[in-house]
Amino acid sequence: MALREPPPELHQRNACRDLEPEAFMLSPNPDMAAHQEAVRACLSCPVRRTCLQWGMESQGVGFMWGGQSVLQVDVTTPDGQRTKRVRAVPVRQCARCTRWFAPYRANRTVCSDRCSRGRNGYQRRAA
Ligand code: SF4
Ligand SMILES: [Zn+2]
Repeated sequence: MALREPPPELHQRNACRDLEPEAFMLSPNPDMAAHQEAVRACLSCPVRRTCLQWGMESQGVGFMWGGQSVLQVDVTTPDGQRTKRVRAVPVRQCARCTRWFAPYRANRTVCSDRCSRGRNGYQRRAA
């Protein structure tokens, strides 16, 4: 998988230059501490919009760009053909622990497999 390399115009202002690229990788079981740091960086980043646009255009599937998961999804065209499209899906809160995460699938509602099995040590916060 290609390493994350923001274009030169993003280098000076991006909020993630000191973070590990792996923290932006979409996974069913991310290192949540590092991943949450990445989510926080994205949500406060001054170049979010440019970053997301570049991630979509460069087919940066499988990573978070500009606070969104860039995913390849199956779609059916109007004439009934099955094809794949690149789609951006915003970060969301885990349905179990309420932490923010970048989903590795569009319909993912929990931050990790560990969380869905109740094994991550986090408790759902009281509403
Ligand atoms: S939006 Fe996120 S991934 Fe993009 S440059 Fe900013 S911190 Fe890095
Ligand atoms: Zn969770």
